[in-house]
Amino acid sequence: MISREGKQVFHGIAIGRVRFLTKKQNVVTRRKITDTDAEITRYETAKNQAVEQLRALYGKAVKEVGEVNAQIFEVHAMMLEDGGYNDSVHNLIRSQNVNAEYAVATTGDNFAEMFANMEDEYFQARSIDIKDVSERVITILHGGDTGSDIGNEPVIIVAEDLAPSETVQMDKSRLLAFVTHLGSANSHTAILARTMGIPAVIGVDIEEDWNGRPAIVDGYEGKILIDPDETTLAYYRERQKEDEKKKELLLDLKGRENVTKSGQKINLYANIGNVSDLAGVLENDAGGIGLFRSEFLYLEKHTFPTEEEQFRVYRQVAETMAGKKVIIRTLDIGADKQVDYFDLEKEENPAMGYRAIRICLTRKDIFKTQLRALFRASNFGNIAVMYPMIISVEEVRQIKEIVAEVKKELDEAGIPYGTVEQGIMIETPAAAVISDMLAKEVDFFSIGTNDLTQYTLAIDRQNAKLDAFYDPHHEAVLRLIELVVKNAHEAGIWAGICGELGADLTLTKRFLEMGLDELSVSPGSILPIRQIIRESE
Ligand code: PEP
Ligand code: MG
Repeated sequence: MISREGKQVFHGIAIGRVRFLTKKQNVVTRRKITDTDAEITRYETAKNQAVEQLRALYGKAVKEVGEVNAQIFEVHAMMLEDGGYNDSVHNLIRSQNVNAEYAVATTGDNFAEMFANMEDEYFQARSIDIKDVSERVITILHGGDTGSDIGNEPVIIVAEDLAPSETVQMDKSRLLAFVTHLGSANSHTAILARTMGIPAVIGVDIEEDWNGRPAIVDGYEGKILIDPDETTLAYYRERQKEDEKKKELLLDLKGRENVTKSGQKINLYANIGNVSDLAGVLENDAGGIGLFRSEFLYLEKHTFPTEEEQFRVYRQVAETMAGKKVIIRTLDIGADKQVDYFDLEKEENPAMGYRAIRICLTRKDIFKTQLRALFRASNFGNIAVMYPMIISVEEVRQIKEIVAEVKKELDEAGIPYGTVEQGIMIETPAAAVISDMLAKEVDFFSIGTNDLTQYTLAIDRQNAKLDAFYDPHHEAVLRLIELVVKNAHEAGIWAGICGELGADLTLTKRFLEMGLDELSVSPGSILPIRQIIRESE
């Protein structure tokens, strides 16, 4: 049995087989072949397998993220079945006597360039898709796996690192646990693991030959055991049963109020990134959604989600929550959440760079599309909107002007919308310090402690090497939170926390003392916090 330790990101025990995700670069070399018929058959077999994979992914995605978001897989499958694409691959193999990998790579490049040079933005965006599908066929020809397609069995994912865009594409119902070598506890992949409520460990010395082997992930101790012996397995099966019992006991708290013995009340909302997280929200009895990270909609895609696509997702979330508050954060792309089709330039300091509201205020077309979708969806539930990475009153005023434009356009088109509370995230020290001024401009504050801590302590939240210096309970951060709550209340608005610190059970009592009105946390943290609140004086 091999035992490797790392840093725990989310508790729990997982028992299953390892699926090692490799990110092999598909290096394509040109080889001369003699039997062109055999090579064409090789291509056809790989292509059919790719189409099958894409159709299966489409089926899964429809259930998880809805028809509109799933369509990309169908589009990819159709590209591979296109006559022009196949003719080009066949011709290259026959006329130049080259291997299938080379013919596919060349065809992919040629088609991608052709799309990129088209006038229409829609076709330009297909350029990335054609490269993606070609890459999938080449990976199959190389006999490898295809990244985030994790197969049908429930698995423990082991990888060097996982980007948020890869994580969101995985079939969540088949994920037992995450183990990575790189990554930090505050990275978005770690946050996704917490949202899904699955054990996760980072900073582990992983090995590729673990692939397919039985393993146990201990999310309490932060370790992975490969090829566990029978005694160890029996011990951990028992621990899993105890976990289940504890969870059942917590279920007794469903339907109860978040109220202390002396009658102080606080709202407990859930953080989500996707419609597929809604099941956990309902199961754990969240009072609403305090943070819907809308950028995950953009991360899952290969081109900008349209107003209609976004509208359907926001509407679905609002309707599922049936009148409970749903706070949707506008696009927070940039920093660790990179999307190719935004064409963002490489930056020296992406966390302090062109991200979030800075992109929205300079690329108004993207921002307005999202706002229109949000306002339209507000007619179907209790939607509130909040804006990330604010540093000044001026930014808030600019946002308000754009919101007014959007409302005017909707009015003119006779499109109905509801009353939408407007809030901002307090996640920069600047915003915390001028929160008295900002409070006069908005309806609520939601404190993003992940970024607020990173910027206050000048510690990159992605850099695991700095863990020793990272103190999540640093007095500077706690004092800023206190100041923000005080300034909010003086201006008559409410303040909550939506960063990971909100779920820190050792701070729940302190947050109650500070008078926070809301904590928004991963769905699995709601009932444990409710328990502490109800036991507090
Ligand atoms: C935060 O910064 O605390 C936050 C909630 O936003 P994100 O983690 O998505 O940056
Ligand atoms: Mg943030």
